[in-house]
Amino acid sequence: MILGCPKEIKKQEYRVGLTPHCVSAYSRRGHKVLVQKGAGEGSGFEDQEYAEAGARLVETAAEAWAADMVVKVKEPLPEEYRFFRRDLILYTYLHLAAAEELTREMLETKVKGIAYETIQTDDGHLPCLTPMSEIAGRLSVQEGAKYLEKTFGGRGVLLGGVPGVERGKVAILGGGVVGMNACKIAVGMGAEVTILDISTARLAYMDDIFQTQITTLVSSERNIEKIARESDVIIGAVLIPGAKAPRLIRREHLKLMKKGAVLVDVAVDQGGCFETTRATYHDDPVYLVDNVIHYCVANMPGAVARTSTLALTNATLNHGLLLADRGVEAACAESAPLRRGLNTLDGRCTHRGVAEAFGIAY
Ligand code: NAD
Repeated sequence: MILGCPKEIKKQEYRVGLTPHCVSAYSRRGHKVLVQKGAGEGSGFEDQEYAEAGARLVETAAEAWAADMVVKVKEPLPEEYRFFRRDLILYTYLHLAAAEELTREMLETKVKGIAYETIQTDDGHLPCLTPMSEIAGRLSVQEGAKYLEKTFGGRGVLLGGVPGVERGKVAILGGGVVGMNACKIAVGMGAEVTILDISTARLAYMDDIFQTQITTLVSSERNIEKIARESDVIIGAVLIPGAKAPRLIRREHLKLMKKGAVLVDVAVDQGGCFETTRATYHDDPVYLVDNVIHYCVANMPGAVARTSTLALTNATLNHGLLLADRGVEAACAESAPLRRGLNTLDGRCTHRGVAEAFGIAY
């Protein structure tokens, strides 16, 4: 099979669908790989490295898109729809349930679309989504620590403190993948960490892992008020699957907070768990409401594109190899996780959630 890897064109998207390591893996299996020149630049991979791994470098996006199977990161933008054609295999994040126009284009042109975010193992794990939550969780504390610095407008507090001076206080709302990873970094930096969740089972798990290094609290109105008063950094990491995030920190809570404290809303992509959240971008990531700094970047992993590309391709490579070796139909018959990832096939919508979102046949 011929694979194509075009350069991402979405604003501030520096990740790339294939690394040189992936190119070697596909080449060893007898596949040919076309990589658009400069595609890996944002993640620190030179054209030369792709060539050495066995790729053929092509000048234009059109040449990369002419392959049998296109491997990308972000969903195609309207200027890429012209490359859609019958039997093209498109392997990327698609988020179709939130993109009616793209869904209809893919159905009309009969593209075979496999969405990273709906590949799901039998135990419900989302292997191609988890690494991005891990990155966002770890990064959230790093960003919180940065904006606490005086020059960035913060309180001027060092999370780890020093001997003789108290440590900074970090509260994390939600103890899932993002929360767990935020917790690891906050504890590692020496902060005083409190984690809140509605799931007592999850809190018990966190307590087992971190023992006396953290405080666990049930996520109640009273405890949220407490952490609003006391925290230097609050990380929003809640998720109710398929629903908008609950507004846990409301406008009136900001009045209780310390001047120059930082709110990092990782859940911004689900509407945000702070009432005052509005989505921001990497080039202007923060804003101030009632003297509280808000960091609400919806695509946090983009800030560490190299790490994100490596983590993403670690997760996507094996499924991609199966698709390339066996073709979409046989690969999906063989692998249940991949079958759950299949969103469009021969003009049919093959994912229940997407079909229900737009009232189309499933
Ligand atoms: P997860 O399902 O692993 O964890 C969510 C946790 O929130 C669960 O433990 C759940 O019990 C808890 N929760 C639900 N309601 C709560 C409440 N009222 N109070 C406290 N806890 C509550 O999800 P995750 O992978 O950790 O993702 C968290 C959020 O981060 C999601 O919205 C996800 O889309 C988002 N995310 C954003 C970025 C970004 O770049 N901004 C990147 C990755 C993930």
